[in-house]
Amino acid sequence: MLPFSIAKAWTTKEAISAGGRGERYIAGGTTLIDLMREEVERPERLVDINNLPLGGIRVEHDVLVIGALARMAEVAAHPDVRRLHPLIAEALEEAASPQLRNMASIGGNLMQRVRCPYFRMLDAMCNKREPGAGCAALAGINGGHAILGTSDSCVATHPSDLAVALIAFDATMRVRGPHGERSFPVTDLYRIPGSTPHLEHTLRAGELILDVRVPIRPIAATGRYLKVRDRSSYEFALVSAAAALQVEGGIVRAARIACGGVGTRPWRMSAVEAALIGRPATRPSFEAAAEHSTQGARPLSGNGFKMALLPRTIIRALEMSGEKA
Ligand code: SF4
Repeated sequence: MLPFSIAKAWTTKEAISAGGRGERYIAGGTTLIDLMREEVERPERLVDINNLPLGGIRVEHDVLVIGALARMAEVAAHPDVRRLHPLIAEALEEAASPQLRNMASIGGNLMQRVRCPYFRMLDAMCNKREPGAGCAALAGINGGHAILGTSDSCVATHPSDLAVALIAFDATMRVRGPHGERSFPVTDLYRIPGSTPHLEHTLRAGELILDVRVPIRPIAATGRYLKVRDRSSYEFALVSAAAALQVEGGIVRAARIACGGVGTRPWRMSAVEAALIGRPATRPSFEAAAEHSTQGARPLSGNGFKMALLPRTIIRALEMSGEKA
């Protein structure tokens, strides 16, 4: 690990001032410190934001507000989250390990970097780490990589389970930076790689995540998160599906579906949702709708199995949600 300095920020203003000078924010540090040890990330100055008043979970009218510094385990166990957005609790519990969930913050989870093995190998080609270097995954081991939103420059999946759950429910986020405060949908945080995979998110220089805001809707009570992976814990998704259904008289009136492990960013399945509306809440309808999930997919040499696994995972998640609807 290369030498670096670290200072605590005691106010949001102080932190943003440091961020505006190019210092990196650190909260739980569960991603950043790993990457610094491997010298993939080499910040010279860190600002510790753990003393800022950005924690907590609360309900404001019809919105669930989750502070950026709330820890994953804290959010997953919170009674309002479990009652109003059980899918979010489930997605968090399926992520990482208990130790990591105790440390990792919500803001950090959304900002975590890709798990492509070549990204962490300093002697491998990686456009994300070194723009213009090439992408070792294209002709390498790519079974865990993306089939949606890929480019010839990068095919890494976004690893956050939480982001998949938030995107399914149109969550927004509030950020503050040197030039003021703004809010936008969580889905707009993430870029697809195109020819610039080193640009992963849309935060501006020095912007700090304040909180995440999730609308509270009756459909959320039916939400389920299904994560398919190589082993049953402490593993990233091969394919995951967040699904929620509103069913009246046996007919689907509303559907929310987003998937992880398949896209270069968390992937909302709008075409699948549209195909379900007005259809019976039965397996044949789920199967027909799930066929839309691979529209535009570009499988690689090692991940063609996701073309079948993705619709199957969606169908099963819809069945699980349907049991609660
Ligand atoms: Fe790097 Fe992306 Fe290629 Fe992985 S897939 S080696 S992160 S450019």
